[in-house]
Amino acid sequence: MVLEYDNKLKAALNAVIQAMALCEEVRNSVPKIAYIEKADHSPVTKADIGSQVVITYELLRVFGTAHIIAEEDVSSLSANENLLQEIYLQVRKRVDIQTTDDVLRLLEVGTASSSKKGSFWTIDPIDGTKGFLRGEQYAIALALIEDGEVVLGVLGCPNYPENFEEPSSSKGLVFYAAKKNGAYVQKKDGSNPCKINVDNVSKPSLARFCESVEIGHVSHDTHAQISNLLGITTPPLRIDSQCKYAAVARGDATIYLRQSSKAGYHENIWDHAAGAIIVTEAGGMVSDFSGYPLDFSTGRKLEKNSGILATNGTIHEQVLAAIKQLIG
Ligand code: AMP
Ligand code: MG
Repeated sequence: MVLEYDNKLKAALNAVIQAMALCEEVRNSVPKIAYIEKADHSPVTKADIGSQVVITYELLRVFGTAHIIAEEDVSSLSANENLLQEIYLQVRKRVDIQTTDDVLRLLEVGTASSSKKGSFWTIDPIDGTKGFLRGEQYAIALALIEDGEVVLGVLGCPNYPENFEEPSSSKGLVFYAAKKNGAYVQKKDGSNPCKINVDNVSKPSLARFCESVEIGHVSHDTHAQISNLLGITTPPLRIDSQCKYAAVARGDATIYLRQSSKAGYHENIWDHAAGAIIVTEAGGMVSDFSGYPLDFSTGRKLEKNSGILATNGTIHEQVLAAIKQLIG
């Protein structure tokens, strides 16, 4: 392990593992989890907010202060005293908070603004909330960005099967990577850490690609046209959340395609930072649809990037060529 990021990686792993436990406890408590709609109509649950509070608490506990850009904020709670109380009770089981005000204070920490220079953490407390609600894939994502570059990423994937070809195999993996130090996976209890690598597929037609489940998020049609141009016949692997990056990093898939369903959409940094470093450290490549690297120095959104492509690296240029042919 590179010494420079050793402490930060340990703290990030611990924070994500605690948040995973909270999310699983909520997920297993009732068959149908209550959610509220945010202003952008996306769902949020007590687990999303609780997870963010736990991660923030842990980062502050270890480092004293932390610059954090996180997905959730207090606005979902403004007219919802009951939800705030429920989150407080859920979080209190794991970390030492005293009142609901502590929940609000910890959420406020995540509203930092970014700067091109310096470092900040970015948190997606539940990436793929729709998958979480369906009992399918979701991820807890935490990344550290320094001078606009992701240097460390952790993805907690509570439902990711150990053996992708056998969905009944035991579930719950944590993927992580630090700059120039390779990518790893371990079980959620910290056991069996092992290095992961992208696959070595060199013919695009033999690749399997993955995409979001949600047609409200991405264009399956565009992805199908790109994969047709590449001669891919294997059906896409549809998975919620940054588990798609994990799939490419571990060789469960060769390509992750993401063309937003909305023209002009800019992706959130927390939806990509952790996944992107895990793929690149596993030997793969990540770029936008024009081949540019993802630029994490432009605030809460990837303002300079459009479309996301993650691959095993070997076939990256060929996939970009197909995208160029289709989209220009
Ligand atoms: P996925 O599970 O791959 O569909 O990704 C979930 C993420 O999609 C959420 O965290 C949202 O931030 C993001 N999202 C929501 N709407 C869109 C959209 N129109 N285009 C792309 N991403 C979106
Ligand atoms: Mg997300």
